[in-house]
Amino acid sequence: MKITGVPAFQDNYIWCLERDGRALVVDPGDADPVLDHLAASGTALAAILITHHHNDHAGGIAGLVRRFDVPVFGPALEDIAGVTVKVREGDTVRVPQLDAQFSVIELPGHTLGHVAYYRPNQLFCGDTLFACGCGRLFEGTPAQMLASLSKLASLPGDTQVYCAHEYTQSNIRFALAVEPGNQRLIARWEQVNALRQAGLPSVPSTLETERETNPFLRAGESAVIAAARARGADDSPVAVFAALREWKNRY
Ligand code: ZN
Ligand code: FE
Repeated sequence: MKITGVPAFQDNYIWCLERDGRALVVDPGDADPVLDHLAASGTALAAILITHHHNDHAGGIAGLVRRFDVPVFGPALEDIAGVTVKVREGDTVRVPQLDAQFSVIELPGHTLGHVAYYRPNQLFCGDTLFACGCGRLFEGTPAQMLASLSKLASLPGDTQVYCAHEYTQSNIRFALAVEPGNQRLIARWEQVNALRQAGLPSVPSTLETERETNPFLRAGESAVIAAARARGADDSPVAVFAALREWKNRY
């Protein structure tokens, strides 16, 4: 399976999975870059997967289904124009043209109906888990988001994390303010800067890297607790997580 991050808008990636001349896309916020990519690779679209209702993830559905008559999978708990198959926790999404199937993971927090699509070694997690960060809490509570991130954190360490935005450098800058002594984080900063300077994406990362460096997966680590406590939080994981998220919003 070939996986390409088709760039869209300022910093979105529309993930395009291709096999034997067929493709599926995750979160096409814009149809045009996807149509250009498919034309350039001579590939036909077979399915669309949507993680949540924001326009930078779902705005390209209409333009794609005008050209390709394909199923559009999306969260059952959100009302998204163009979604034809509503999915819930534990459902299996099958795309036979690519011989691919994904399990659906519900992840309330960024939005209330947000879902991820997972198959062994690959996680398409929209705006929930970012490389070294997490999505803003537009609809859910800190407790919901923390529970959602904990679900993802329990996946195997070699899982490739395909998030939907290139936010990694600013996320690492914040993570270094939280954990200035985290050696793996310092190494990641160098690696990501080198990638970006070469014009390359910083994603996917792996879940192991996220567990070692992403402060939002580390609300139980003593250094992270200490940083949150210095900003007024008590030691409970939800309070630590909420303090981190608030801090990042204003960072
Ligand atoms: Zn979003
Ligand atoms: Fe987004």
